[in-house]
Amino acid sequence: MRKPIIAGNWKMYKTFDEAVEFVEAVQDKIPANDKVDAVICAPALYLPILVQIQADSELAIGAQNMHFENEGAFTGEVSPSQLASVGVDYVVLGHSERREMFNETDEAVNKKVRAALNHDIVPIICCGETLEEREAGQTTAKVSGQIRAALEGFTGEEVTHMVIAYEPIWAIGTGKTATADDANETCGAIRAVVNELYGSEVAEAVRIQYGGSVKPENIVELLSKEHIDGALVGGASLQPESYLKLLEAG
Ligand code: 13P
Repeated sequence: MRKPIIAGNWKMYKTFDEAVEFVEAVQDKIPANDKVDAVICAPALYLPILVQIQADSELAIGAQNMHFENEGAFTGEVSPSQLASVGVDYVVLGHSERREMFNETDEAVNKKVRAALNHDIVPIICCGETLEEREAGQTTAKVSGQIRAALEGFTGEEVTHMVIAYEPIWAIGTGKTATADDANETCGAIRAVVNELYGSEVAEAVRIQYGGSVKPENIVELLSKEHIDGALVGGASLQPESYLKLLEAG
């Protein structure tokens, strides 16, 4: 039985005061950690303070990106060791917005996954197809390729510590959710890739989230599907009430 993981990805939203207010509002209301993993992936600037505020709660804090090197002349970047040093538990890697707008490649994502595991940070590895790719029947080929590239060089045991997020690009921030059956089918195709590479025990253990216009109104149906183990949520994770409703579905 895989534990659901509901992660909010705030993207580049919220001022400092708004971020602190949010965590203070939700931290005592997070369901027990044996029921659901609750994560907020916040802007890097706020990570240390949010980690401190939620230290005694069941909420975990994640970053939205990082470099793969521990240190160096990389102006403006944040490193895995820096994230680990402030107590960050998760990091989103290979989000389509980073792949599309910041030239993040499969190779860079693979290096970042390695760096995250080296620091005991759980990587949330994103994959997903464009509308054109979906309409051309290339969804499975696209996401399978991204996942194979991200997992290259890892052992099955390491893969069980990762989270995969299937986020069809056409469903992000558009209000268009994939149907629960379509989302389940692609999450199942991802699990089949893990099965092919590492066998059924690892495939049954790895958690696969769906992301793309997830809301309190549609999360229950999505999570009821066999291969969907959680959600990576943008817009609907920005308000405490809505985020807590998402967690209730977990
Ligand atoms: P929305 O939930 O706003 O569609 O964003 C999804 C997403 O990109 C989460 O990483």
